[in-house]
Amino acid sequence: MSVHGSQVLDLWAFNGHDPSEYLSMEHTRSKNSKIILSMGDSYVSDRRRPMLTVLEDTSPGIHDTLLCACNSYIYQEAGCAGYHRNCSDNLHEALGEIGLKFPFTPGPLNVFMNIPVKKDHTIARLPPSTRPGDYLKLKAEMDLVVVISACPQDMTIINGVDRIPRDVHFAIES
Ligand SMILES: [Zn+2]
Repeated sequence: MSVHGSQVLDLWAFNGHDPSEYLSMEHTRSKNSKIILSMGDSYVSDRRRPMLTVLEDTSPGIHDTLLCACNSYIYQEAGCAGYHRNCSDNLHEALGEIGLKFPFTPGPLNVFMNIPVKKDHTIARLPPSTRPGDYLKLKAEMDLVVVISACPQDMTIINGVDRIPRDVHFAIES
């Protein structure tokens, strides 16, 4: 849930029984023939199996599937001198906490991230169009390990024009 209406989340999922199967934005775009999914559509794994289905979405429905997760090199490139928290490290540290290791950083589902494709095929990076309290409800189609990173990006306007990363809220229903 976007508590404050400005925060984006990077989301990854892995098969709970075989974590080498992962949520794939490449396959999701290919399978659905779209870059932003709608109600009832499913995000799929690299093995083309549904992992997460869109059940409810009170936000304007804009969730990016194109951009990579931020990593330390992106912040270096942007001129950050020291270490900057980043979504890639958040993913691998979170997996490590439950004894899992994944060899690379899959492209994440960027929940609430507003990346429109323009007519000239370039992309824009805009603040989220969400309002405080907007939420996205996804149905797990198999046992999953899900990792969510509240993106710590504070050098662009991706988390709002004030560039202040904020808390998000999530809940698991059975
Ligand atoms: Zn990030």
